[in-house]
Amino acid sequence: MKIPGVHHLPIPTPFQVGAINAYLLDGPPLTLIDVGPYTEKALASLESQLSDLGHQIEDIEQVLITHPHMDHFGLAGEVKRRSECKVIAHPDAVEKLKDFEGFYLREQDYFGEFLVSMGMPTQMVQMLTEFPKSFSLLAPPVDVDDTLVEGDQIQIGSLQFDVLETPGHSPASLCFYEPTYQGLFAGDHFIDGITPNPLLEMPQPPETERPKSLVLYLESLEKINRLDLKVVFSGHRNICTDPQRVIDQSFLHQEKRSKKVLDMLKEEALTAFGLMEKLFPNLPATEQFLGMSEAVGHLDCLVNQGKAQTRTSENIIYYEAT
Ligand SMILES: [Zn+2]
Ligand SMILES: [Zn+2]
Repeated sequence: MKIPGVHHLPIPTPFQVGAINAYLLDGPPLTLIDVGPYTEKALASLESQLSDLGHQIEDIEQVLITHPHMDHFGLAGEVKRRSECKVIAHPDAVEKLKDFEGFYLREQDYFGEFLVSMGMPTQMVQMLTEFPKSFSLLAPPVDVDDTLVEGDQIQIGSLQFDVLETPGHSPASLCFYEPTYQGLFAGDHFIDGITPNPLLEMPQPPETERPKSLVLYLESLEKINRLDLKVVFSGHRNICTDPQRVIDQSFLHQEKRSKKVLDMLKEEALTAFGLMEKLFPNLPATEQFLGMSEAVGHLDCLVNQGKAQTRTSENIIYYEAT
């Protein structure tokens, strides 16, 4: 399934997930949806794929950012510097794009305390919240020129997109839906073959409560489940031409795991860390944040449904079945 004027540009990343998918839309305006991380390899790949299509970076007129993760937006500043294009993202992404390193240092502070309250041993928390300096090199600062929110529409060539807010994987996640071709540009909200990973996030000022990422993710998945969808252009892996299968699998996966977690809580009260160790024994250090994101996510969902409740003992939070 192709949409005329849409080109798929896989861009390499240094991460385990592999390439990210950027998309070039002929326009006008000549548009990139996501760009890749700021690495020499990614830049060379973007340049050569643009050149195969008869373009160069200097021609780009706008860059849409699906969500503020460095594998997706890192090169945006470089593209903007060379092309003077507009960079467009969700309002909640603006600060992070402008100061990725500062954002992560604040996050490190927040998660230091939070993960201890979730039962994680202090030493492990220290290891986990140490921000690798090299990360900030992959995402130099970029100023956002325009923002998009739910209900906005954008015209790119003959394509007219509805903007959808899809928080969950990331709070500032945007999807772009084209009703004529029933195509969705989904960033990391929808990836064929990777179970969704709604990551732990710190509260976004003026909010003081941490966003419940998995609860939000499932609501966002419901939102795209209501669309007439033929093709999804994801942020990683393949372009998916049977999206209903992936959506159904995601709901099923969530339901099964939620039931498993509830059964565990019926046996004994657990901290989120304790739950993670039961769900994923011997998780390598590099995967611990993802593991905690998943454990806390399921606990949030059960609390939200009234099936679990929390109890605090010596500043550690325990979850128990109601
Ligand atoms: Zn992402
Ligand atoms: Zn990604």
